Amino acid sequence: MNPTELPSLPGLHHVSAICGDPQRNLDFYVGLLGLRLVKKTVNFDDPGSYHLYYGDAVGSPGTLMTFFAWTQVPPLATAQGRTGANQIASVTFAVPDGSLSFWVDRLADRAVDFEGPKTRHDEVFLAVKDPDGMTVHLVERGPVGGEGDWAGGTVPEAHRIQRVDGIAMIVRDRSATEAFLRERMGFRRLGPKGDVTRLALGEGRAESRLDLVADPEAPSGRMGRGAIHHVAWRAATEQDEARWREALVEAGYGVTDMRDRRYFQSIYFHEPAGVLFEIATDGPGFLVDEEPGELGSSLALPPWLEARRASIRARLPEVVNRHLR
Ligand code: ZN
Repeated sequence: MNPTELPSLPGLHHVSAICGDPQRNLDFYVGLLGLRLVKKTVNFDDPGSYHLYYGDAVGSPGTLMTFFAWTQVPPLATAQGRTGANQIASVTFAVPDGSLSFWVDRLADRAVDFEGPKTRHDEVFLAVKDPDGMTVHLVERGPVGGEGDWAGGTVPEAHRIQRVDGIAMIVRDRSATEAFLRERMGFRRLGPKGDVTRLALGEGRAESRLDLVADPEAPSGRMGRGAIHHVAWRAATEQDEARWREALVEAGYGVTDMRDRRYFQSIYFHEPAGVLFEIATDGPGFLVDEEPGELGSSLALPPWLEARRASIRARLPEVVNRHLR
């Protein structure tokens, strides 16, 4: 399995995490961070719970942050996640150059605790916890661009989150994961800084970074509210994804069949430290079942769940997007 002989993966597609109260989650990501709710659907593998997708105006690959809402998992103590070894520890969003002072003021005005501005790899960033305790970083990275604008955004365009810049992963042993990322998946090594090795995938504005944090003493993590479930990397087409699947299988990795996620097609596998990776196709995208102006405005279900709409809806708590201008 040689990444130079495979179709290149253009960068990060989405990051998925677990949250508790979906309304509180929406209020944070839309009301405070200014992302767009681009799809309100259910977890296709567990239709009794929401799957919320946030992103830019049209839900472009690389801008997507998604949440599975665990609302029916008592008790709270065991449903709470814990970040630890062999897990994704944080998500970084890219904001335009010069906009961090806006974000400092915005967080302070709303009495949201944050740390920073701090410096990492010669870049300035803020660190904030979402309502379930997930760590979110905001880093200045490049000019305003892309498809950020839509009528309902709560953040002025000049300061708006541009895309998901990357993730940080904590691993006890860096070597196997780094070798996998570089030799199997085609990541470039941007350089080590202390215990953090920064890797990158994709070019230009689509460049996504993965910080590998080596911590041999890190306690085990636990999946649950506030924990990051997986990261998905982009494949341009289904054909590209099928070739990656074939190569991973040939190299001896356990890979799922291609799964229809309605807005993209996905395969899943674990990298050597056990973090769940996905490869997701760029298409068909979020306009497949809603008009651009209507994205996220109603409960979207795939055709195979449509017949169960009434019973599914009856089990879901009401979630209202009250942040539309
Ligand atoms: Zn996913």
